[in-house]
Amino acid sequence: MYQPFYHADQYRPEHTPPSYWHATTARPTFAAGSGEHTVDVAIIGGGYCGLSAALHLARDHGASVAVLEAGDIGWGASGRNAGFNTLPATKHDYAGLLRQLGPAGAAGFMAAQNEAMQLVATLAAEEGIATQACGSGSYVVAHSPAAWDALQAEHDAWQQHTPVACRLLPRQVFAGMGHDGPAQHGALHILQGGGLNPLALVCGLAQAAQRHGAVLLPQQPVSRWQRHAAGHTLHASGSVVHARQLLLATNGYLPAVLPPALRQRTLPVISNIIVTRPLSPAEWDAYRYHSETPMFDTRHLLSYWRRLPDGRLLFGARGDLSGSDASGQRQRAVLQAQLAARFPAWAGVEIDYFWRGLMAVNRRLLPQYGALPGDGSVWHAAGCFGSGVSTMPWLGRALARAMAGQPPTATEAACAMHGLAPRLPPTSALQKLGLRLAYTAYAWRDRFSEPA
Ligand SMILES: Cc1cc2nc3c(=O)[nH]c(=O)nc-3n(C[C@H](O)[C@H](O)[C@H](O)COP(=O)(O)OP(=O)(O)OC[C@H]3O[C@@H](n4cnc5c(N)ncnc54)[C@H](O)[C@@H]3O)c2cc1C
Repeated sequence: MYQPFYHADQYRPEHTPPSYWHATTARPTFAAGSGEHTVDVAIIGGGYCGLSAALHLARDHGASVAVLEAGDIGWGASGRNAGFNTLPATKHDYAGLLRQLGPAGAAGFMAAQNEAMQLVATLAAEEGIATQACGSGSYVVAHSPAAWDALQAEHDAWQQHTPVACRLLPRQVFAGMGHDGPAQHGALHILQGGGLNPLALVCGLAQAAQRHGAVLLPQQPVSRWQRHAAGHTLHASGSVVHARQLLLATNGYLPAVLPPALRQRTLPVISNIIVTRPLSPAEWDAYRYHSETPMFDTRHLLSYWRRLPDGRLLFGARGDLSGSDASGQRQRAVLQAQLAARFPAWAGVEIDYFWRGLMAVNRRLLPQYGALPGDGSVWHAAGCFGSGVSTMPWLGRALARAMAGQPPTATEAACAMHGLAPRLPPTSALQKLGLRLAYTAYAWRDRFSEPA
């Protein structure tokens, strides 16, 4: 059902991910899909993108929709991410956006990102989704004095050219309100968004889509796709779906049925997460760490962390080219070492949860979405650079509007995410080599940017 890029251990939709969220969240039961369905739009992928598209198509455009998901609802990255509702979904800083997109494109992209953060809260309010929102915005933490200088430039550019509300927190200020410690040199506070429970969000989107009439078909890996004059027929293990239009909402979990135009566009990347045992108030006090606002740092190979409402620390980072469970154990140790470097007093603290999943990047360094060139009935979205919690629901909504034949909103028209990223190298071996070189270059750049 998948087009595997990593070890088979990454592609077992019959297994529940061993995540903190799955262990602690009361989830609704979605019955396994079955039967034959004829709908306006068939969607492959039951994550934020597919479910947001389904919700908006059914609720706002009166379309009939079926969502096919190989695992349980939210089995992919949407149910197991870190729950940061933040931006931006790009590897670029604002200067890089300007170079690639020009002033209108850069501002348009950031305006869409800003709207996406708001959309999560709006959908939660409209559809009664208990996302367990916590914290206030997010902190981008400077890992060096030079990174602090760069953050100030980013702040100034955002203030001048984008609607993103943010403020600078010099080291001493951030030490008093975010956290103290050897690895912070000040922070940029993005004032919107925050932390949430990602599994609660994806299950809530699914319930809302279902309530508005979408058919959910979990545990239905799509193994065959027939294109014919009337549209599309998808075959899964227990169901068949006929549709006029098709949306591929599969992000880093590339399906075997990917059409040629979408091949070699999206590079899956592994992101790894550990969650500690609950830390005591005294342990948090050691770093004056009293915030539930999610944080990530300015390294090229960035770390991200957040204090969870039950007093645990969630800590994550990208990496690994294998994907096997055995190499996962090595990544777990790498994360523990990184955590100990950032928070030496917590070196050796017990880790209660470790899991990982696939996100997606591409050569354009921006998400891609739209209709396939040459076949306007096939739609796609992928490549959120680790900021899919906000971006994917937004792209799902934009796609729903487009599939319903509506004109784009002004923000959608200006968002600079349309179309396809340039092709990657033709084989997965070459793509992995490119990823290995990028990881190595980033690691060296990060090492040389550390303060002496
Ligand atoms: C560990 C981790 C941490 C992250 N942390 C954050 C974060 O804190 N904040 C943030 O903004 N982003 C984060 N991300 C990224 C974010 O989770 C993703 O960008 C987002 O969830 C992608 O949503 P999606 O709906 O496009 O894809 P996914 O949620 O990945 O869903 C794709 C689905 O397609 C299904 N599929 C594929 N092929 C088939 C087939 N043949 N048949 C049926 N189904 C199929 C898969 O089973 C999968 O469930 C993180 C990602 C990971 C992996």
